[in-house]
Amino acid sequence: MRGIALPAATLVLSGATFFALSGRWPWRRLSTLPAAPAIVTPAPPRFTEVRDTLRRGETLSDLFSRHNVAIDFQRLDPSLLLNPRRVRAGLIFSFRRMLGDSTPTQVMFRTSPEQRVTFSRIATGWNATAQPIRWQSQVTRVEGFIEHSLYEALDAGVSDEQLDGSNRRRLAWDLADVYAWQIDFTRDIHPGDRFQVAFERLVSEDGEVRLGRVLAADLTISGKSLTAFRFGGGEGRSALYYDTEGNSLRRAFLRAPVEFRRISSRFARARFHPVLGRTRRHEGTDYSASPGTPVMAAGDGVVLRAGRAGGYGNLVEVRHLNGITTRYGHLRGFARKIHRGVRVAQGQTIGYVGSTGLATGPHLHYEFRVNGVPKDSRRVQIGNGTPVPADSRTAFEQERDRLLAILRNSETGTPALAGQVSESATRWLP
Ligand SMILES: [Zn+2]
Repeated sequence: MRGIALPAATLVLSGATFFALSGRWPWRRLSTLPAAPAIVTPAPPRFTEVRDTLRRGETLSDLFSRHNVAIDFQRLDPSLLLNPRRVRAGLIFSFRRMLGDSTPTQVMFRTSPEQRVTFSRIATGWNATAQPIRWQSQVTRVEGFIEHSLYEALDAGVSDEQLDGSNRRRLAWDLADVYAWQIDFTRDIHPGDRFQVAFERLVSEDGEVRLGRVLAADLTISGKSLTAFRFGGGEGRSALYYDTEGNSLRRAFLRAPVEFRRISSRFARARFHPVLGRTRRHEGTDYSASPGTPVMAAGDGVVLRAGRAGGYGNLVEVRHLNGITTRYGHLRGFARKIHRGVRVAQGQTIGYVGSTGLATGPHLHYEFRVNGVPKDSRRVQIGNGTPVPADSRTAFEQERDRLLAILRNSETGTPALAGQVSESATRWLP
C-alpha cells in the first residue's frame, strides 16, 4: 500500500504545483464568484477640523485666538477683499489641525459665495490665498396651480433637492418682484390661478444649491396670462423683464406700496382689517402689516405733505404726473428727510406702518387719486411699459423664443402639480 500511496500523492502535489505556478486552475476560480465585500482599512485621518462662527461684537483676532491662531491681518494681501474690521458676524471658519499638533495648520472660510480664503501656516507665519468657488447654473422649470398663495404653490411645487426652504421663499419673492407693477399679490390671486417659472438653480463644486435668476415666468391670473422674460442687465427689482411684445413690465406705479416679504405670517391670515372691515364705504386699500413695516412710494413724485391729518393719523401724500396723487395713512412715523417738497422715487421708503389716527390695529391705508377723485388703484389703466430699444429688438426676440421654449417644455423640470382648487381666505403671501 505504501509503495503506491507515495507516488500518487507526489503526482497530485506536483500537478497542483504546476497549475498554481501557471496560474491556471482546472476548476472555476473563486474570483468569478460574486466578490465578497472588500475590507479596506481607511487610512487614519491625519487631521481634525473644527468649525467656529464669528460672534456678534467679536473681532477676527478674538475668534482666532480661541483656536490658538495669531495672524497679523495688517500684513495680509489686500487683494483678498478681507477687511478684518468689516467681517460680518455669523461667518463660519474651519480650523484644520494635524494630529498631535497644538496649532492649526489651515484656516478656511468664505468671504462670499464665490470666494474661499485659506490661511496656511508656513515657517515664517501665515500665508493667505483666495480660491474662486465655481457655481454651475442649471435651468429649472416648475409649474402648478395656486391654491392659496404663490409662496405656498412654489413651496409645494419645488422639491427640497431642487431648492431648500429659504431659497424657495426667495423664489416667491423674486417672482413677486417681477410682477410688482402688474399684480397685488395680497388681493389678485384666486384659487385656480396658474404659474410657470424658469429659473437658474446654482450648484457649487461643494454641492451646495442656491437660487440664481428668474429667467422667465407666466402667471395666469383670473384667466389672463402674464408672461415675463428677463432681458438685459440688472439684478433684483432693477432687472428688466419684458412681456411677449417686448414691453417692459415696469410701470409708473407699483400695485402695492408694501413689500410682501415684509408682511409677517401673523398678518398674512388677516385679509381685512377687523374694525374697518367692509362695512363702510372705503376710499382706499388697506394692507395689514406689522408695525414698522416700510411703506414705499408707489411711483416717482414730490411729497405734498408729511404730517398729522385727522383720521389718517400720520399721512404722506405724494403728487405724481397727470394729476395723480397717492396717500399713505396711519403711519407710525416718516422716513428720514421725508417732508413737503422732497422728490421721491418709486420704491423708496417714505414711512412705516402704524396705527395712528382712526385705526385700532396696525395697517397701511393707501389711496390712489386722479384729479382729487379716489380710484381703485387696481383698476386704473397705467399704460404700456417702455419697449425694448429698437437696436436690441432682434436679440430680444431670440432670447424670448429660447426662454419660451424652456417655459413651455413640460419635459424638463418638475411635473405639473395636481391642481386641487379650493376656496380660501388666505391670499396674503405672494
Ligand atoms: Zn383704509
